[in-house]
Amino acid sequence: MAKKNVTVSLEGAVKTDAGLTYKGVIMEPVVDQCEGCDRVVTFEDNTYCPTYAQPSIKWSKGVCNFATHARAEVDKTGKVKVNPLKASKRAARGR
Ligand code: SF4
Repeated sequence: MAKKNVTVSLEGAVKTDAGLTYKGVIMEPVVDQCEGCDRVVTFEDNTYCPTYAQPSIKWSKGVCNFATHARAEVDKTGKVKVNPLKASKRAARGR
């Protein structure tokens, strides 16, 4: 499968009293699990995800399906596990 280039930006985002507004949505800062993801964008003093406005909710239901640094794997017992190493090795090899 060909590697997809991830291009993300918060162009047009506006800081308001309610928070950072992007395309009419209030953006929440990224969470710890997002660290290493290519979609994280720094805007002024915080980091945000242009792909998903509420990263904490995305991760509360398991591994974020938009993440570029981690993926969910189902082990032999049927449990879903996060495997950030596999994604990291793949990135290091350039695939
Ligand atoms: S795509 Fe998912 S893992 Fe990546 S920054 Fe956004 S919410 Fe976080």
